[in-house]
Amino acid sequence: MPADLHLHSTASDGLLSPSEVVCKAVACGLTALALTDHDTVNGIAEARKAALNTAAELVPGIELNSFAHNAEVHILGYFIDYHDPYLIRELKRLQLDRDERAAAIVKKLNKLGISLSFEQVREIAGQAPVGRPHIAKAMLDAGLVKSVKEAFDSYLALGKPAYVPRSRLTPDKAISIILKAGGVPVLAHPGLLNRDLMIPHLIEKGLLGIEVFYPAHDRDMVERYAAICRRHNLVMTGGSDCHGPGTGYPEVGSAVTPDEELEKLKNLL
Ligand code: AMP
Ligand code: ZN
Ligand code: FE
Ligand code: FE
Repeated sequence: MPADLHLHSTASDGLLSPSEVVCKAVACGLTALALTDHDTVNGIAEARKAALNTAAELVPGIELNSFAHNAEVHILGYFIDYHDPYLIRELKRLQLDRDERAAAIVKKLNKLGISLSFEQVREIAGQAPVGRPHIAKAMLDAGLVKSVKEAFDSYLALGKPAYVPRSRLTPDKAISIILKAGGVPVLAHPGLLNRDLMIPHLIEKGLLGIEVFYPAHDRDMVERYAAICRRHNLVMTGGSDCHGPGTGYPEVGSAVTPDEELEKLKNLL
């Protein structure tokens, strides 16, 4: 009874619409899936509707991108009340920050001789909170780079010439936003983050789980994070982080949450 609790849609930077993500999950035989778009809950209502009358349960989720110790710390939130006015207000703020950041990145690109406008980027993002993947796609569409990867490797990644630091949402604040919205905060892909020393502090701030099962986690990582979960009585989640076909991200269902851990997650509510 697999549950993929880490999926993106067109509501952020995924390629499939929320309903398409649900269809795909059902076709894969998943019994539960969480839509965890970056900094937005805009896809959840559509996904929830699509999941009605299917064998799959839709878990309302989010992935908040925060920053600490010179690293991107992603906090997943499960079973959030996605109508919560406080949550909506905070997300609106994050999206204004994202617009400002994207505009600053475009300005840097312009100084580097790359002719691209903020409007071109905005158009690609549509209703979604704008992110670097949209800028990369705009550069690709304008023939300025040969691939999204080249856009990141040459311009957009941390340390590259058009990089602009993200708004300073801290992991503490991200955890607090999720808790206030009635959700369960979980540290995403700690193996990619590589800042294990931060974990006890995050637990103190209210972290309730760790994404132990993740496609890029090797066996040592899974064992290490499972041990931390057992020691601190945290829930162990798993998910693919699928962004859609051809994005270079893993497929739906390529990492999953064990049944008993999903139960544990629900009992935390
Ligand atoms: P942003 O939220 O605007 O900082 O963009 C972060 C997103 O960009 C991540 O969630 C990934 O989907 C994507 N991303 C980050 N680094 C890379 C990279 N080197 N190559 C391709 N995509 C990337
Ligand atoms: Zn993403
Ligand atoms: Fe992430
Ligand atoms: Fe993700």
